[in-house]
Amino acid sequence: MPGRVISTLFLLALHCFLIAPVVAYTALSDNFLRLIPSGGDDFDIEKGKLLAPILIPRVPGTPGQVAVQKHFVDFFTNELPKWSIEWYNSTSKTPTSGNKELPFANLVFKREPPWVKEGQSNLLTLAAHYDSLITPEGFIGATDSAVPCAILMHTARYIDKFITQMHDEMSALGEGGTVAMDMGVQIILFDGEEAFKSWSATDSCYGSRALAERWENSFHPAMSLYRNPLDQISIFVLLDLLGSPDPTIPSLFLQTHWAYKAMASIEDRMRKLDLLESKPQRPFLPEMEKEPTAFRPLYIDDDHKPFITRGVPILHMIASPFPDVWHTMKDDGAHLDMPTVRDWSKIVTAFALEWLDMMEVEPVEAKGASASGP
Ligand SMILES: [Zn+2]
Repeated sequence: MPGRVISTLFLLALHCFLIAPVVAYTALSDNFLRLIPSGGDDFDIEKGKLLAPILIPRVPGTPGQVAVQKHFVDFFTNELPKWSIEWYNSTSKTPTSGNKELPFANLVFKREPPWVKEGQSNLLTLAAHYDSLITPEGFIGATDSAVPCAILMHTARYIDKFITQMHDEMSALGEGGTVAMDMGVQIILFDGEEAFKSWSATDSCYGSRALAERWENSFHPAMSLYRNPLDQISIFVLLDLLGSPDPTIPSLFLQTHWAYKAMASIEDRMRKLDLLESKPQRPFLPEMEKEPTAFRPLYIDDDHKPFITRGVPILHMIASPFPDVWHTMKDDGAHLDMPTVRDWSKIVTAFALEWLDMMEVEPVEAKGASASGP
């Protein structure tokens, strides 16, 4: 239906036009890039504090689902108490559940400037799904998407102290109240991305479909800057299928290609500074120079779909082609490429810092020093 495609593209273009010019953007210094840690042992597949607890089957309606939810909530409660925690629960029958309604729970961890009112902040939105595929039995989905979830936990943990410093300084100066100042960040961990029988519009993305619909109908008070929580998303960065060696992440949307270029530039600079461990044949993000005419209005189905169709700008960080281990028992801890995993954790963290304009609070204590061991 070309008409539909055109209207979607029009909405996307309009959204970018409204949002992009107001986002402050200063590249991180080499010094700052050097300081960004990789997470190191926290990504160990046996004992790693962030990753190991997610490397279990976690199908909706099973104890594994509850265990990983607890892992996420405990982490934010204990280590990042300034982040709010929201649960978005829904239920749905699936093609394999018979008459039983399965529980789906998206988790949203959010940090906004303390001075903002409801509907005032624009939110860098980082997302991944935490559920795992129901078959083959015992599947743990290391790249799909345990690793992306752990990367986002690492990112939240590292950026937290800079957010605090930024808020403190801005509060002291009486700043705030402009779009550039009222930036926040939220991490969405989606449930129910996987299909139970075979991928279709109704058998997939259970959590993200429910959340996008709910947010579309959750209106902020009259006269709020943003109409609803969807409107607050400055960009929606979805990580999926990351952790295998030699990934290729294409730039899928012209409307957010500038953000893709920012991420690709971070990778490029980190490689030139010798801050990354992996030695791929070509960059993870090789399409920095993609021509506008090379973009096609096609996208890989994933949790961003209910959001992109509602006009939210998307940066889809998915390996394409998919990893060789995709939806097989080999998508486990042993088949991860740990240098690649750790490199992703640095790249995504740097992107978040840059987006949030953290050069304003660049640390000075270790300038010139190399404090960035893997
Ligand atoms: Zn999958």
